[in-house]
Amino acid sequence: LPINLHTINQFFGKKFSPKEAEEFIKIKADSSIENPKNFEEQALKFMGAELYKAFFYGYTKKHWGCEPKELPVSILKRLPLRFSYNDNYYSSTYQGIPVDGYTKIVERMLDHSSIDVSLDTPWEKSMQTEFAHTFYSGPLDAYFDDQFGSLSYRTLYWEAVRDNGDVLGHPAHNFPSLDVKHTRRREHKHYEYWREFEKTIVFTEFSKEAEKGDELYYPKRLANDKTRLSDYITLAKNEEKTSFMGRLGTYRYLDMHRVIEESLQLANEWISAQAEGCPLPIGKFS
Ligand SMILES: Cc1cc2nc3c(=O)[nH]c(=O)nc-3n(C[C@H](O)[C@H](O)[C@H](O)COP(=O)(O)OP(=O)(O)OC[C@H]3O[C@@H](n4cnc5c(N)ncnc54)[C@H](O)[C@@H]3O)c2cc1C
Repeated sequence: LPINLHTINQFFGKKFSPKEAEEFIKIKADSSIENPKNFEEQALKFMGAELYKAFFYGYTKKHWGCEPKELPVSILKRLPLRFSYNDNYYSSTYQGIPVDGYTKIVERMLDHSSIDVSLDTPWEKSMQTEFAHTFYSGPLDAYFDDQFGSLSYRTLYWEAVRDNGDVLGHPAHNFPSLDVKHTRRREHKHYEYWREFEKTIVFTEFSKEAEKGDELYYPKRLANDKTRLSDYITLAKNEEKTSFMGRLGTYRYLDMHRVIEESLQLANEWISAQAEGCPLPIGKFS
């Protein structure tokens, strides 16, 4: 994954060129769907039933805990389908991992005389009186004490196995079949493919509905959530001393670079608004 020319040729037992593969998938794709309304329709329109069932149906059902028909189109739109041998997950011009890892980047950013860090300190509304403004990246519903009911999220948990040598041969392996409960296995040492490691740790990933106390990872945005979400957004717009940001604060399924970009934008907008006496920005919700 993502599905590319290699996947298509292997799956259908063909030796297509890029052009032939594109023509072939066009025939497989469901052209009767004009405006896909959900994940499943988008997948059928995009790749046809065989690839969808083999690679997406079971995986999506396990990962999101619901039928793909209930999920928004936007989730599938993040994933490419390629007619070349490029198997990069993302199509970004630049991709990378920080030389010393993310922990070091964050440590260095926080190492500033104007920044105090309090770990293991759940955010509470009463803290706001101490600050000119709050940039809130916790869950939107929790900020308003779940007064319209909780929004739904998925969380993950992992089982780790230590071994010698190499187990998967690459960093990530997806398990789309409904016959196994897990969704993925990860062997992180392969992200640093230029380094040699004698030992290895493999994480098997499971998905479940987030409950109280769980770390929230994926906003589901089902039909029920959308009504509640719009009620919460209305409240958020009246919060003059708080800006909402990130995956949980805006209840959107965002990748890391989008969260970072939007957070920097929000901070800059806040600085300009303050300087010019304009209303302060609230956050980006769609
Ligand atoms: C398994 C997995 C794989 C991913 N892979 C990629 C990838 O390959 N590329 C990519 O770009 N993105 C990836 N992402 C997405 C990426 O992790 C998110 O985009 C990013 O972490 C969102 O940043 P954030 O600050 O909005 O939220 P988070 O990173 O979720 O941070 C929110 C923080 O708020 C804390 N919090 C919540 N409530 C409170 C409270 N009341 N008080 C105090 N703290 C609180 C939480 O504990 C959490 O630490 C992945 C996500 C997951 C789960």
